[in-house]
Amino acid sequence: MPAHDIAHTVLLALGATEQHGPHLPLATDTLIAGAVAERAARLLGGTAVALPVPVGASSEHREFPGTISLPHEVLAALVAQLCDGLRRRGFRRIAVFSAHGGNGRALALAAERLGDDVLILPDFRMAPVLAGLGIDASRAGAHAGLAETSAVMAINARLVRIDLAEPGYVGALEEIWGVLTTAGLRPVTANGVLGDPRGASPALGELCLEAWVAAVVEAVARWRNGAE
Ligand SMILES: [Zn+2]
Repeated sequence: MPAHDIAHTVLLALGATEQHGPHLPLATDTLIAGAVAERAARLLGGTAVALPVPVGASSEHREFPGTISLPHEVLAALVAQLCDGLRRRGFRRIAVFSAHGGNGRALALAAERLGDDVLILPDFRMAPVLAGLGIDASRAGAHAGLAETSAVMAINARLVRIDLAEPGYVGALEEIWGVLTTAGLRPVTANGVLGDPRGASPALGELCLEAWVAAVVEAVARWRNGAE
């Protein structure tokens, strides 16, 4: 391996195991986390990819079958331990991101005990990527809607039961935020979907993944260049 190909940076992506409507796999967030990390590492060069963490903080999906969840504190401790392990393996820079919004609090807790060799990337939202195509955010969805469904189709269309795709809650997210963060999704969506997955396609998914990958590459490259 030429010296310039030796990986000094590693990407640690967080996923989740949670219900994603009747049409998407439980591993949706983990699949997306892994795909974004793989693609970003290829573009960055000198970057390895840790296996994505397959369980996250998903208590807001607890009423739906298949969901498993860790408390925020446990996930934060896990992230800190994994970063320690990667550091001992010789990685000098560790970039962490999550494909599940619910992991944000754990990442904030983990950040308090991590050094400046760890970069925690901000959340990425796919819905705004589709807004440029006239697809509104309520349809693109925050969970198992058009955006996530398209992203999984782009990764592996065979994992999506598009014949079972049906809309869930398609109103404004701000209006239900208080319920989501306390009682969870069940009171606002019977099928566990936030958005409308109908019309999802691999092409739309590619757009979402590309934008996400570009955001990761940009942030990690800037960090490595010492700009932050
Ligand atoms: Zn998801």
